[in-house]
Amino acid sequence: MTFAVPFGSVANAEQLRRGLNVAISDKVRIPPASIDPSIKNYHWLDLVRGLYDAYDRGAETALILDFNGNVAEGPGFNVFCVKDGKLKTPAVGVLPGITRRTVFDLCAEAGLAASAADVSVAALKAADEVFITSTAGGIMPVTVIDGISVADGQVGAITSRLMALYWQKHEDPAWSSPVSYT
Ligand SMILES: *Cc1c(COP(=O)(O)O)cnc(C)c1O
Repeated sequence: MTFAVPFGSVANAEQLRRGLNVAISDKVRIPPASIDPSIKNYHWLDLVRGLYDAYDRGAETALILDFNGNVAEGPGFNVFCVKDGKLKTPAVGVLPGITRRTVFDLCAEAGLAASAADVSVAALKAADEVFITSTAGGIMPVTVIDGISVADGQVGAITSRLMALYWQKHEDPAWSSPVSYT
């Protein structure tokens, strides 16, 4: 199924500059045995309940957990953390988004190590950098989790580098197909 809508972003311009304030909800992402998360779907009660938790706690958006209690994803986005220069994103119970895939491609080109693996809540909070990914906004920094700054609370160097690369690639014929609107 294909649909075309005006471009939207999970994070607005200010949030892209300073990073998002995210809450980790204890709501559990519906298990793969119930709904296959690799198929894009809008069976979003879990994600919306997580979002309400986040709003109740003064955060701007949410991350919810997988059935093992690890971090899964948020309403319409995947999540990455950076620790000691290496990137990690949850492996199970998530939609393998195209922007997540693009981060792996960008990392391969940039010589950065990136893997899909379990990401515990503790590991996410102890990360040097955190960002989320979605077609709606691309690569978007997270600088506060559950009211506490991620590292020094600034948008990280690797996140900034990947954000810049992500947008540069939109003009690169090796990575994009021009659309003529005439
Ligand atoms: C759409 C969506 C994403 C992001 O996927 P992209 O292909 O990068 O836009 C991540 N998680 C969920 C649950 C989604 O619905």
